[in-house]
Amino acid sequence: MTRITRTLIAILVFQFSIGAAAPAGVPVDQGSPERGGTTGSPTGHSISGGTLSERIRVIYGIVQYHKAGIDLPPVMVYIHEDYDGCNGHPGLFNKDGAGNRIDLCGNVVRHELAHVWTYHNLTDATRAEYVEYANLPTWGDQSYRHAQRGIEQAANIIAWYVGKQPLSPQEIELNAEFLRPYEMEFLHRYEMLTSTA
Ligand SMILES: [Zn+2]
Repeated sequence: MTRITRTLIAILVFQFSIGAAAPAGVPVDQGSPERGGTTGSPTGHSISGGTLSERIRVIYGIVQYHKAGIDLPPVMVYIHEDYDGCNGHPGLFNKDGAGNRIDLCGNVVRHELAHVWTYHNLTDATRAEYVEYANLPTWGDQSYRHAQRGIEQAANIIAWYVGKQPLSPQEIELNAEFLRPYEMEFLHRYEMLTSTA
């Protein structure tokens, strides 16, 4: 971890821990002392629930987006103790329909943050370009498998780039006939998704 990253985390942890300046409109609950309530920050993000280490993992994910030069809008993060809070999934995006909320039941913060970013930044043209390039049946139709949806491939690729999160070729349906080294292809797709936003 670089010194700059450590400093950023220190600043963010301080901002979150003082719980000051919760932005207008962000709900503030009381929570339990061990798992914390909602804390806001001058960055506009807020985190509800979770242990201290779970909250720090979220903050670190946000810092990684910052380091990658990807500007996130204010995000409301809700950390749950089991999968019930995410309808049985490890994570959930957009429970409230406003595009700024993620719910975490597993370690998928970078993937869910990518959904927030794509929701607010990708143009219809870029979505269509990606679907055509990757030869997918859909951008977001949930009747298709997770790996066949452009929206999920995009989140996986952005999380891979931002967080150096492992990504298997199968998760974006690359098969053995693919000639380019996988990492080159991931990077190409990352640039396709983020260069016009
Ligand atoms: Zn997803």
